[in-house]
Amino acid sequence: MTTSIDDRTLHALRRCALNLAWCWHPKGEATWRALFPESWLSSGRNPIALVNALSEGSLPSWPEEAIEDLLTLDRQLTAAVESTETWYTGEENSIQGPVAYFSAEYGLHETLPIYSGGLGVLAGDHLKSTSDLGIPLVAIGLLYRNGYVRQHVDASGNQLAHYPEYDFGELAVVPANDANGAPLQVNVPILGEDCVCKVWKVQVGRVSLYLLDTDIAANPESLRGVTQRLYGGGTDTRIKQEIVLGIGGVRALEKLDIKPSIFHLNEGHSSFLSLERLRKAITEDGVEYDDALTEIRRTSLFTTHTPVEAGHDRFSADLFTSHMSWLSEPLGLSEQELLGLGRWPDNQDPNAEFNMTLCALHTADQVNGVAALHGEVSRQMFARYWPDRPDEETPIAHVTNGVHRPMWQDVRLWGLIGECDCDQPESYQARVDALGDYSLWHARNNARAELTEFIARRNDTRADRLQIQAPPKLNPEALTIGFARRFATYKRADLLFSDIDRLVHVLDSAPGPVQFVFAGKAHPADNPGQAVLRRVYESSLDPRLTGRVMLMEDYDMEMGRHLTRGVDVWLNTPRRPKEASGTSGMKAAMNDGLNLSILDGWWPEGYDGTNGWVIGDEYKRPDGEQDAFDLNALMYVLENYVFPLFYDRNEDGIPSGWVRMMRAAISSVTPVFNSDRQVGDYYRSHYSALAAPGEPKA
Ligand SMILES: *Cc1c(COP(=O)(O)O)cnc(C)c1O
Repeated sequence: MTTSIDDRTLHALRRCALNLAWCWHPKGEATWRALFPESWLSSGRNPIALVNALSEGSLPSWPEEAIEDLLTLDRQLTAAVESTETWYTGEENSIQGPVAYFSAEYGLHETLPIYSGGLGVLAGDHLKSTSDLGIPLVAIGLLYRNGYVRQHVDASGNQLAHYPEYDFGELAVVPANDANGAPLQVNVPILGEDCVCKVWKVQVGRVSLYLLDTDIAANPESLRGVTQRLYGGGTDTRIKQEIVLGIGGVRALEKLDIKPSIFHLNEGHSSFLSLERLRKAITEDGVEYDDALTEIRRTSLFTTHTPVEAGHDRFSADLFTSHMSWLSEPLGLSEQELLGLGRWPDNQDPNAEFNMTLCALHTADQVNGVAALHGEVSRQMFARYWPDRPDEETPIAHVTNGVHRPMWQDVRLWGLIGECDCDQPESYQARVDALGDYSLWHARNNARAELTEFIARRNDTRADRLQIQAPPKLNPEALTIGFARRFATYKRADLLFSDIDRLVHVLDSAPGPVQFVFAGKAHPADNPGQAVLRRVYESSLDPRLTGRVMLMEDYDMEMGRHLTRGVDVWLNTPRRPKEASGTSGMKAAMNDGLNLSILDGWWPEGYDGTNGWVIGDEYKRPDGEQDAFDLNALMYVLENYVFPLFYDRNEDGIPSGWVRMMRAAISSVTPVFNSDRQVGDYYRSHYSALAAPGEPKA
């Protein structure tokens, strides 16, 4: 029985497509796929584009079952948005206004290309868990006309950058309205001109994300391009984007009549928000500068995300002053005093740069890093900011990152194990322990086989484009080791290839076939990063490694899901302690992948001796020496632990020792390195503390 769609169905289609909660609902993807079996994948899993393409004249006839599933999805998503029974309503300390969360990028789904990598995916997962837990939060970001760089790799291994022009009508965004129902727009001053920012809204379950966009007709050409590309252009563009994000974001909240109790700065890109809040407090509310700063500090939380220098935005004194000197008068500060808000307190150099991280330290009482080790490293990096305190009392805490399980754990594995309540890790472990070897190993083999198919499809597409022969298909039964992350040099994607003869020897002496999959983009301005990419690509062409090493182009969230579900081992080789946290390894572990990692980022907290392996030790050596040491350690673990265990099969063909480690990975990592736990930690140790001064904490 089939039926054509009616108004009710059309509304349900649109409502579900516009609520990104579909992408972490266990039946979300399946529902869309059943409605659009032909076009789901070719649309790039984009429900909005598919729904837009339905036209009155040619409405499809859908099986009744598919429509029922859609209506159920719609009911469940709507009920979740409207529900008043949440984790948050069960908490004792409620907060007065919502958390205002600011981030330059959000990784919510591959169809909303406003993310680059880890920082964005973390922000996306933060919103998803916040929605699930029912914590009041409103998010602010930017909508980029060309998104983030897309990557082609040519036949010589050169990265070719391209930037598609996105049609916002095909993204899960709608124009936002202000508190009076009028189209929401705000103005921000950029070099003496009024830059008009249109505001869009994304619905992330219960959470609203507002995105500012300068590409509108009211702006001169020079200003339309401000929000063109995420992390595109030089510092000149960057400072303008950050004015739009910080200052425009605060102004948008005001027009929405939202009065946040806390501002959470996800990285320093949004630090200008504090300057705008200062201006408002002083000129509109008549508060004295010192009191205004105290209040803004009390209600701000700053999360720093990297110890790597290039991750901290700095603007020359001239550039900063040309954009921001208009604030001198309302704030009652000289130009030098204004610049001082983004400098080390002891810096007397009148030409010193304005540093967005230092600005955040100046305007936020609460500061945290994103893993225990990163907290320690950040305290060392910034101890100088608090000269009166001993280094160990530097007021920087940590909240270890987590990933959103419903988004990243394979839905079939989720089905086998059930939900994960982070407060009940024992119950989760008991359910994982109860899984039989056969079913777990069977699921693992399926996931790996699906990954090899995905890789073959992508390789065919690339080969067609380049008119070259596609590399041989990967072996769906071979031990598969994955590495995907940004190609920054400190991540050392090429460590494995620094001695190819040795690698080949170790692979040849393994008890069974072994294959590696690499993926990742280098920032277009990062030439050394692109050289690393080329080196990995060239290694994959070495005849001795053909079919054993694969470099995939255009790493994004979709590929991230396939890789972290399909691989047996997740490899991570940063130069310690430069990796602040890393989250892809958490995704792999939730999908029973075993981490093989340097003791950096989250891994010193995650590794328990049973759930993966460690490369090297905790000592720091000069770079060259360190690389040689870590390569040795990596080869040793591969040869003596990883390869033999994977191929040590019992009479049923199952590697029972390996499966035991798979169970340990799932049950040790899932309840802890989970964004529900992360957001709960932010709530208990930061949000609720900030919002309720003087009241005892629960
Ligand atoms: C999870 C994820 C990341 C972050 O992982 P890292 O371990 O920090 O590199 C980056 N990019 C994508 C597409 C992801 O899904």
